[in-house]
Amino acid sequence: MVIPYKHEPFTNFGLEENQEQYNQGLAKVSSYLGEKYPLIIGGERIFTEEQIVSVNPSNHKEVIGSVSKASRELAEKAMQIADTTFNTWKKVKPEVRADILFRAAAIIRRRKHEFSALLTKEAGKPWNEADADTAEAIDFLEFYARQMLQLKDGIPVESRPGEYNRFNYIPLGVGVVISPWNFPFAIMAGTTVAAVVTGNTVLLKPASTTPVVAYKFLEVLEEAGLPAGVVNFVPGSGAEVGDYLVDHPRTRFISFTGSKEVGIRIYERAAKVNPGQIWLKRVIAEMGGKDTMVVDKEADLELAAKSIVSSAFGFSGQKCSACSRAVIHQDVYDQVLARAIELTNELTVGNPEDRTTYMGPVNDQAAFNKVMSYVQIGREEGRVVTGGEGDDSTGWFIKPTIVADVKEDARLMKEEIFGPVVAFCKAKDFDHALEIANNTEYGLTGAVISNNRANIEKAREDFHAGNLYFNRGCTGAIVGYQPFGGFNMSGTDSKAGGPDYLVLHMQGKTTSEML
Ligand code: NAD
Repeated sequence: MVIPYKHEPFTNFGLEENQEQYNQGLAKVSSYLGEKYPLIIGGERIFTEEQIVSVNPSNHKEVIGSVSKASRELAEKAMQIADTTFNTWKKVKPEVRADILFRAAAIIRRRKHEFSALLTKEAGKPWNEADADTAEAIDFLEFYARQMLQLKDGIPVESRPGEYNRFNYIPLGVGVVISPWNFPFAIMAGTTVAAVVTGNTVLLKPASTTPVVAYKFLEVLEEAGLPAGVVNFVPGSGAEVGDYLVDHPRTRFISFTGSKEVGIRIYERAAKVNPGQIWLKRVIAEMGGKDTMVVDKEADLELAAKSIVSSAFGFSGQKCSACSRAVIHQDVYDQVLARAIELTNELTVGNPEDRTTYMGPVNDQAAFNKVMSYVQIGREEGRVVTGGEGDDSTGWFIKPTIVADVKEDARLMKEEIFGPVVAFCKAKDFDHALEIANNTEYGLTGAVISNNRANIEKAREDFHAGNLYFNRGCTGAIVGYQPFGGFNMSGTDSKAGGPDYLVLHMQGKTTSEML
């Protein structure tokens, strides 16, 4: 019997034994730095001349690994293998598919700190953030395996005397999975295994700055018994391989997580029916956010300041759920701002390999340049009251930055920055705060800090965000507890880690037999 799902606990790094295990993880990762990794197509390892070089964002000179880069020809080869493998994989029993996920979860649990340490090195994640990313990857495996076991016999429908009706789910076909760098383990693994456990085959194109962790995950799936050709590893340029696979007539669905711009491009291209294509492609797209925390005048102001600071600056603000706007009732604005500045000034920025570092670097030079340009915009649109400095000499470090007194329609209040910058904006009253919260094209996460029950209930109805939290920060959704996904330009609201997610990877088949 399968034990009920419970999310993976976070590691207590206050304990010396856990610190030691993490340091051993770092040592293990250091032992394979700079290795070369192939593509995996139908189980075959293929090395290419052209490589994607993954570097440590805390230290650009340190190469994490070089990963082979798929060309269109190799992407085509992978498509053909995935297409053929689908014919056998779809016949494998759901229980057998689920078992592979359970085994993969067990393998990762045994190597938990190695994986987290790899995230520290490859993605610049501080210990606790890396640990949460690994825990979430385990959760997706455990949760989707159980979900599949629940769905395997379909959903009961009515029958009449002399008639037997059934409603079952069957897989779709070949899925192209395109994942982002900011949850390079959890989202990459979660989107891949959701497609696999439902009986589809996958072409996985991980983000170009974090391909090594994806390769290591493929090894885990193989060790767990996944047959060759079910998941094919095809890192490559988004524009070249990404477009090719999205346009391909044999692509049945695309599971994308990333920016609004790329998501829209994929959605548009997938809508076009190309020669030889006999279906309408399905697109799961989880995109950006401009997430708001609202502070009411009747509220725990210490909780408000703490929640804003941790939601804005955890993992350098590089979460789609990160708080990038604090909208505060005018009566308490000065007090919350002053306390948030104090708390921010206590944060340490540096190499995340050091356990005491609160905030590591941003992802790469492009991210550094983009965030610094928004700091400049912030100087024009408001007051930079703390932070505002960056240093890209060894790694891409930016100080946690608060921009105060930003007007509700400023660029800083509308555009996703994806870095450690939060705008503070004053609201006349609670209704005005909700109006501001809803004034972007996004609708991913949000939070309200309030002790006023009527206002909480008003926000529950009117604050238009896919994940809305009360009296806590707006980051940190847990698989199976807070299904995650956003409204409007934040995507298709597919709710990863939720009860409806797997169904998006399948199609319903009705059979009716006269008895
Ligand atoms: P991105 O859009 O730049 O890249 C995402 C993936 O798309 C990468 O693998 C990239 O190589 C690929 N890609 C780029 N061009 C492509 C093309 N033409 N065709 C196919 N694939 C292409 O995003 P990113 O910088 O990796 O991630 C950050 C973004 O992701 C932020 O906007 C963030 O809000 C969003 N995000 C959303 C969620 C969510 O659940 N809603 C979760 C994490 C991140």
